Parts: sequence; C-alpha cells; structure tokens
Amino acid sequence: MSECLFCRIARKEIPSAVVYEDDELLAFKDIGPQAPVHVLIIPKAHCEGLNDLTPEVEQAAARIPAVAAKLAQEFGIATSGYRLIANTGADAGQTVFHLHFHLLGGKAMGGKLCQ
Ligand code: AMP
Ligand code: ZN
Repeated sequence: MSECLFCRIARKEIPSAVVYEDDELLAFKDIGPQAPVHVLIIPKAHCEGLNDLTPEVEQAAARIPAVAAKLAQEFGIATSGYRLIANTGADAGQTVFHLHFHLLGGKAMGGKLCQ
C-alpha cells in the first residue's frame, strides 16, 4: 500500500503536523480542520477501515481512545468536550481509505451526529 496517503504520512514521506507518535500509532493535525482541534489518529499499519481490521491493526487501534484522551488533555478540551469519529464507507463520507479516527473539539458541535 505504498501509494496510500496515510501510509506515506506514517513513513514521513509526506510532511504532517505530528502531535503524537509511538511504534504503532501516529496522530497529526487534519489539513482541513473542521474544529479548533482536529487531529487524525491512525495505526501505522495499513488497513482500509473498520471493515478490514487485521489482528495487528485491531490490537494497535484498541489504544486509540486512550491516545485521544491524552491528546484532549494536552489540547485543553478534555473538560469542554470532544468527539472521536471513524468514518467508514460511502454513507459516512470516508475519503481516505486508511483507518483513521478524527479527534474534534474546541467548539460546541451540537447534539446531532448526522443530518
Ligand atoms: P475522512 O473523510 O473521514 O476519510 O477523513 C479524511 C481526512 O483526511 C479529512 O478530514 C482530510 O482533511 C484529511 N486529510 C487529507 N489529506 C491530508 C493530509 N495530507 N494531511 C492531513 N490531513 C489530511
Ligand atoms: Zn495506508
């Protein structure tokens, strides 16, 4: 999956604003932020999305909520609130087919997740 955008970001072939990294996960600022805090958290290993989890990715991705909570603390949105979203497939509007979770916060986002 060498041409996958987020694989290339994970390999540092394409620059990104990294805010967290460990052996299995990378978090970086979304290039088109939809909230004052908009971070993407990805497993470094490729899989297209939640429908395509491999054991390796599932194990790594299980830590993403904890990483999101840590980042929420660091960005000062832990108390005000935030969302952690993984768009999956066409109806959800997924555009990049490498599993990623959006961490969104820093403004009131309303009570509806879909319209
Ligand atoms: P989704 O629509 O859920 O697949 O989300 C893909 C996200 O990737 C969008 O919010 C884009 O703004 C973001 N994105 C696309 N290219 C880049 C990039 N080079 N660096 C950071 N974020 C990106
Ligand atoms: Zn990939």
